[in-house]
Amino acid sequence: MDCIFCKIIKKEIPAKLLYEDETAVVFPDIHPARAVHLLIVPKQHVEDFVKVLDQELFSKLFYIAQQMVAREGLRDRGFRLVVNGGGAQIVSHLHVHLMGPMSKTASL
Ligand code: AMP
Ligand code: ZN
Repeated sequence: MDCIFCKIIKKEIPAKLLYEDETAVVFPDIHPARAVHLLIVPKQHVEDFVKVLDQELFSKLFYIAQQMVAREGLRDRGFRLVVNGGGAQIVSHLHVHLMGPMSKTASL
């Protein structure tokens, strides 16, 4: 399967892994939209948000996101979590974007 995120997870393509556990990895987005722009990526290849069957996966990804918010010093500097899906995603391997710092007025 020709999936760039699977290749990163298998360490066939280099990426700076900021976090790794049995469920997911976290690495910086190659085209950062904010000073901090991380991708939280499950190790399991799931094409799209709408195809996730395991509710626990959502819980795990959000928990990792919460830890990364703290680690990146974004707890009180503003952040945004984004999932593109339903065809709006460029990479068809589920991932959560964590971006910050972010102000209240920042547009989508
Ligand atoms: P999207 O599928 O639109 O939610 O976004 C995919 C994101 O993956 C984009 O923000 C890309 O900049 C990012 N991206 C693509 N290839 C890589 C890579 N090799 N390493 C890190 N980020 C990547
Ligand atoms: Zn994949």
